[in-house]
Amino acid sequence: MSRITPPRTSASVSVPALVPPALPSTLIVAVVIALVASYFLGIDPRVILGMAESMQGAPQTSQQPIDPARDPEAAMVSEVKKVLAKTEDTWEALFKEAGGQYRRPALVLYRNVTPTACGSGQAAAGPFYCPGDEKIYLDLSFFDQMARRFRAGGDFARAYVIAHEIGHHVQNQLGTMEKFEQTAARADARQRNALSVRLELQADCYAGVWGASAAKRNLLDPGDIEEGIRAASAVGDDTIQKRTQGHVVPDAFTHGTAEQRVRWFRTGFTSGDPRSCNTFSANS
Ligand SMILES: [Zn+2]
Repeated sequence: MSRITPPRTSASVSVPALVPPALPSTLIVAVVIALVASYFLGIDPRVILGMAESMQGAPQTSQQPIDPARDPEAAMVSEVKKVLAKTEDTWEALFKEAGGQYRRPALVLYRNVTPTACGSGQAAAGPFYCPGDEKIYLDLSFFDQMARRFRAGGDFARAYVIAHEIGHHVQNQLGTMEKFEQTAARADARQRNALSVRLELQADCYAGVWGASAAKRNLLDPGDIEEGIRAASAVGDDTIQKRTQGHVVPDAFTHGTAEQRVRWFRTGFTSGDPRSCNTFSANS
């Protein structure tokens, strides 16, 4: 995204203390190693944490205070705040145009596990929106996963993820989410998955609508939209299933195929109009 004018940052982002000061540094390092090892090697993190606890008896070296300026995640946090502010500008204008008023959602950045009104958020679940507390939960490590595992890095790819979750917040405010939940409660598993795909594709379309408004305000760099499309394709159910289980089971789709996700993101981006995002009445 373009950084020519100093962008506004959103005040609605909360970040937990990066490193709880009470934790001894050995344990912090061990937790990180444990998580990395469990992710890449499939080792139960408790095994390594057990090792860390046994290291606790060792005398502690002096602890360095945390310097926020040198925090490698600080740049990411500031980027998230800017993207959120841009989505606020877009949706406030669109709601106003339609005679309504946009409620700004909160965004919670977390690591590993966090309590939410929708149960506990875990990094493995990826970013999500909780309609109960109108908050977006985003694990910063997901962005690394996107870049490494899905080969979909870049600032616009990250912005697309946030804009998609904002799309769910828009659905919540418009009553779409409630209608979805009522219908899904009466449906069987297969129908529920099909409905979920429509809901997700609409969030992709809304992300495209946001992209259009960012483009209109000259906030995009060349290649940004391609980056968003690559990200939408990388998180398609078929792409993920192929990667994780080697084959595709369409009835188990809950988010849509790569082709569908890209197509609906493009639909929103081309029209710039949320009314073009009626994925529930479209053929696919
Ligand atoms: Zn979603």
